Parts: sequence; C-alpha cells; structure tokens
Amino acid sequence: MIDSNVPLVDLHRHLDGNILPPTILKLAHKNNLPLAKHTLHEIEKLSQIQDKTSDLLKFLEKLDVGVSVLATEQDCFEVAYENIRDAKESGLDYVELRFSPYYMALAHQLDLGAVVEAIAAGVESGSQAFGVKANLIGILSRTFGQKTCMQELDALLLSKDKIQALDLAGDELGYPAPQFKEHFIKARDAGWQITVHAGEADGPKSIWNAIELLGATRIGHGVAAAQDDKLMDYMAKHAIAIESCPTSNYQTGTVADLSSHPMKTFFERNLLVTLNTDDPAVSNIKLSDEYDVAYHQLGFTREQLSIIQSNGVLAAFLTKQEKDDLWAKYTQDT
Ligand SMILES: [Zn+2]
Repeated sequence: MIDSNVPLVDLHRHLDGNILPPTILKLAHKNNLPLAKHTLHEIEKLSQIQDKTSDLLKFLEKLDVGVSVLATEQDCFEVAYENIRDAKESGLDYVELRFSPYYMALAHQLDLGAVVEAIAAGVESGSQAFGVKANLIGILSRTFGQKTCMQELDALLLSKDKIQALDLAGDELGYPAPQFKEHFIKARDAGWQITVHAGEADGPKSIWNAIELLGATRIGHGVAAAQDDKLMDYMAKHAIAIESCPTSNYQTGTVADLSSHPMKTFFERNLLVTLNTDDPAVSNIKLSDEYDVAYHQLGFTREQLSIIQSNGVLAAFLTKQEKDDLWAKYTQDT
C-alpha cells in the first residue's frame, strides 16, 4: 500500500525498541551474558510481543530484553548503525530515531554522555554507509522521575547539535507532563523541536498539557484526542501532527481492536496524520505492515494513504530545503 511516488518516512521509531533478535543474541554472546544460553527463537519470544499485552508498562518490559545486552558504548554504536541498515532494508528515505540514553545505559551503568555520543556516531556512520537520511530525537524516560530526567536531558544537551528534538516517553499515567515543564523549557531554549508521547495511556488532558505546557508541535500516538472535539479542532488548526502507530496501540491495549483505532477520524477531521512503527523489532513489524493495516483494517483508501505518506514529509523535523531534497528523487523519476 506504500505509494512508490512519495518519499517514505518513519517519524516515530524507537532505536532502543528496534534491537533485532539476532543482534540481541550476538551481543549477549560477546558480553558473556545469561541470555546467550537461549536460542534465537527463544530470544524472539522473550523480546517480541505475542499478539498483545495487558497495558503499556507490560509492553515496555519487552524493550528491557534488548537494552540488557548493551554492555559497552561500542554496543550502542552498533545498535544505532544497525537501525539505519534496517531503515534501508525497509525502504525508508528518511527516519527519525528516538532513544533514551538513561534507559540504554541502565543495565550496565554506562556513562550517559558517552552513550549519546555513541548513538550519534552510529547513526551518522550508518547514514553514510546506507544512504538513508536520519535525525535523532532524545527521550526523557518519565518513568525514572524528574531528577533522573534532568540528568538525562543534560547528557543529551552535551551533543546538542546532533539532536533535533526532545520527547517524553514511558509511564504517562504515573508521571504526567506538568512534572517536566522545566526540562522542556531548557530543550526549547536549546533550539530543539518538541514531540511528546501523550493520549496513549492517559486522556485528552495529557495531550493538552503536552501542547500547552511542554510546547509539543507533534504528538506521539494521541489516541485519546478522539474523545475531545475541541482538541482535534485545535490540532488541525495549528497543524500539530499525530504520529500514529496502530499495531503498537493494539499491542499495548490502548485500542481494543484495530478497527476501533481513531486514525480515520483524525484524518477526516483534517489533522496532520502520519503513520509510523513505534518499536518495529518488539512489535515484529515493518512500516509496510502498518500501511497494510491502515488499508485493510482501518479502512483507508490508497489515495488517502498516499496523503498520509506525504504528511510524514510535511511533519518531519527537517528544513524546507531538506524536504524538497527528499521529494527531488521522486519528482525526477516521474
Ligand atoms: Zn513511542
């Protein structure tokens, strides 16, 4: 269902939720970790969702398996590099990879600043090797609280020029946006763009807070916006993009089934809807699967999906020139 005349981008993809099972096994062996005793099939079962989980926090536990094998900064470099290889193999022209340095550093107590540097170097090196344009989004893992998030932010700011935007992810219910106002003022002062996970585990108020208190110009998931007409009108009017990830929303239990996903409603109400993967390795999906899901289960037409595909370019954290460059390849071909 992907339109071959439109650039293909993924704006909501967690680098630390996209550590492929063979890489997990390889790094477990290299670092002599207990996971090394498992077969590849067992690693797949441990690190990937089987149908669905009970809630977001159960889903996030799956990501723990992948990051548990990151014992050195070189491992982080490798995972970042392989994310670009995977983007290339998935046919992406441009990808925005987001990551939480604190979360990646946690299992083996790596230095936060060094992790950020390794990720930036891995992505840069991968981009050169595979010819896929990429940008990085730093994540504050709200689950670890305000103080840790400030340390995480400071580590990200050490590589300020290699990062485009800041995100807030993790336990949305337990750690609401108002707790992180100060962090996002600092991020905006640094010149970063803002996207925030909101309306995934919590209601529309969480999305309002992300926009009004944290300065988000894009919302990760935003499923709960469907409950609030005023909010949908506001998002449409101000072109605040929605980063939809339907399979992930099904797997976390955010939507009961795919046919009840509100993406179609968002589209009909003129919101800037984009389609993304979230955690491809954990969900065991490719971006092409999400376009298939949108066509077969969410009821989009090919023409509508083509608009959604180009919305991805429109909402990307890129300059006008960079967006034109992405389109150039396609307009020349036709
Ligand atoms: Zn996400």
